Amino acid sequence: MEKITVRAPATVANVVCGFDCLGFAIKEPFDEITISIIEEQTVKIKHLDNFNLPTEADQNVAGKAVLAMIEKIQSSDHKKPLSPPKNLEHIGFQIEIKKGIKPGSGIGSSAASAVGAVVAANELLGNHFRTNELLEFALAGEELASQGRHADNIAPCLLGGFTLVRSVDPLDIVKLEFPPLFVTVIHPQIEIKTSEARKILPQQIPLKTAVKAWSNLGAFVSALSKGDYELLARSMEDEIIEPVRKGLIPYFDELKKAGLKAGALGGGISGSGPSVFMLSKSQEIAQNVAQEMSGILDKNRIPFKAYVSEIDSEGTKVIPRRKA
Ligand code: ADP
Repeated sequence: MEKITVRAPATVANVVCGFDCLGFAIKEPFDEITISIIEEQTVKIKHLDNFNLPTEADQNVAGKAVLAMIEKIQSSDHKKPLSPPKNLEHIGFQIEIKKGIKPGSGIGSSAASAVGAVVAANELLGNHFRTNELLEFALAGEELASQGRHADNIAPCLLGGFTLVRSVDPLDIVKLEFPPLFVTVIHPQIEIKTSEARKILPQQIPLKTAVKAWSNLGAFVSALSKGDYELLARSMEDEIIEPVRKGLIPYFDELKKAGLKAGALGGGISGSGPSVFMLSKSQEIAQNVAQEMSGILDKNRIPFKAYVSEIDSEGTKVIPRRKA
């Protein structure tokens, strides 16, 4: 039976100055999603990990994303036939999920499963859909976890590198150029649900604060394309989200201070937390940053995981099958 396995990377969204629109992919950790076609008109979920995530397709972001894809194929406005032809009234999908990214980590756990599932299913269907259509299906899955339509994790997870979501409706994703950068992620082992972390956000901000925010985002994007590390460092500033969300993260101020002192260019909350990320110019600095930040959590007996990674420029990719 035909089977496709893909690797979907973790992602850092918001990136301090780009709330809900900026994100990048990292090489580790990642989810592995395997999809096969079954002779039953259903979407089945099987977990190969111990996270106890829902197995009902419409309750799991991966299942929900694939259901959105099937719905599109079966809708009357979808005229393009599958090649080779398949009758989805007689077949379904089995999705096996091996999560390397802990749910509620703030590094795009739900996005990785949603994107991984649609990329694998699309490969099984002979690459029937284009990138923007895949993003739409993954968005339907991601919506289940965060109760909001935002593509700042799913876009870099699918495409790799840094992405900017110019608009979600209609989807308009900009791939950004970037210089060599190394990422430190410290993940305190507590769970923060995106849906909960969104409830505490301010609904209105003063114009002065908004001006600062879009100035920083513009400067950050320019710094990325020019490889201007100093401007990049100056632009990683946020007066809107960080002040309200940092209270959810143990020792956030100390962690950030330690990271900057160890030589990081800047950083802050990854997604909605609790992960905290830092960007550095070299692998060596990123390792030192990890060590200094780990020291803070060790001292305070907070369990955590630390990752040092390059930016992943490939995004979600099919893993070639090993020859028997
Ligand atoms: P993260 O930023 O780590 O993705 P979210 O809060 O956005 O965290 O998503 C995690 C939520 O999504 C959890 O409530 C989890 O139960 C739910 N969920 C459903 N299916 C999955 C899946 N396949 N992978 C990860 N989370 C899932």
